[in-house]
Amino acid sequence: MGRLRATVAALLLLSVVTAGIIGARRPARHEKGARLSAATRATVPTTDADPSPTTGASAPPQVTTTAKPAPPAPPPRLASGTPRVVVSANGVVLPVLAVDSSTFRVRTPCGAEMTVGRATVTPVAHATVVLDAGHGGGEAGAVGSNGLAEKTVNLAVVEVTSAVLQRAGFGVVLTRGGDYRMTLASRADVVNSLRPRAFVSVHPNAEPDGPFPRPGTETYYQIASPDSKRLAGLVYEEVERALSQYQVDWVADTDAGAKYRPGQGGDDYYAVLRRTHGTASALAELAYISDPPEAALLSRADVQQVEGQAVARGIIRYLTTDDPGSGYTVPYPRTEPAGGGGGPEGCTDPPM
Ligand SMILES: [Zn+2]
Repeated sequence: MGRLRATVAALLLLSVVTAGIIGARRPARHEKGARLSAATRATVPTTDADPSPTTGASAPPQVTTTAKPAPPAPPPRLASGTPRVVVSANGVVLPVLAVDSSTFRVRTPCGAEMTVGRATVTPVAHATVVLDAGHGGGEAGAVGSNGLAEKTVNLAVVEVTSAVLQRAGFGVVLTRGGDYRMTLASRADVVNSLRPRAFVSVHPNAEPDGPFPRPGTETYYQIASPDSKRLAGLVYEEVERALSQYQVDWVADTDAGAKYRPGQGGDDYYAVLRRTHGTASALAELAYISDPPEAALLSRADVQQVEGQAVARGIIRYLTTDDPGSGYTVPYPRTEPAGGGGGPEGCTDPPM
């Protein structure tokens, strides 16, 4: 009994330590505000569709009840207690596919398989929250007129969110901890390997309908998941309220709020929601990087702090309360693709 208790204590300690290591081992962040060529500005699509996207032409479905989700991608069959992801020396998070006595077979950010030695990586068996900084590497996402790239602000914001959550005692794993490409499938693999209680993908937005009297924050949820809907409503509520303190010329889509986007057959259009069924997931579009006044805000470290803290408050309320969230809106049908990217084509894995 004593030995069992000691083993349990050791495992708990390991999970706490490894959760901390994620924060500590991340490589130095890429340069903030790295300037990109004018040609790329505001022309790169903002949100991740799948490499083979369906369109949003179908009518909005009955929320939370009727749409049958596709079965989630099955996580690899691993013995209980086996690490679900490992973190490389450079801080790259690698979902585990198989284990033997001296190696892990893992999935890389670009979706390839590789084998890593046990001694070279840090195993992680559990996380309460997975956070996703959208885009990365050669996929900058949308770029503001001030040169601010979406990939940069996304990582800055989720690093704040992660720090707040870890201080509150929640284990956090980031899908990417540096400036490198990552496929949408590999991001979902991290989620499906860890099965956290909440997953949030963070982006700013682009291509608004027009001026708006308040922040045009949008959060998307999984159509068939009431938990996902509540998570998205709470993140929306916190972020919209936090940004409302700034007096700028906001822009928005007319249906800004917490909402859904169906693809063909009524399933979720966005890959980070469709590929993560079984985990309460939200795609958060915090503000419009394509709007110069908002891009100026987003470039400020203090505003990135405010956004990251707001996302964290939404997640913590989701985890610790029954609060319903707010901002729920019926979206108008969308037919335009959300943009390419997120596939393995041209993807180069970072140094491990
Ligand atoms: Zn994006």
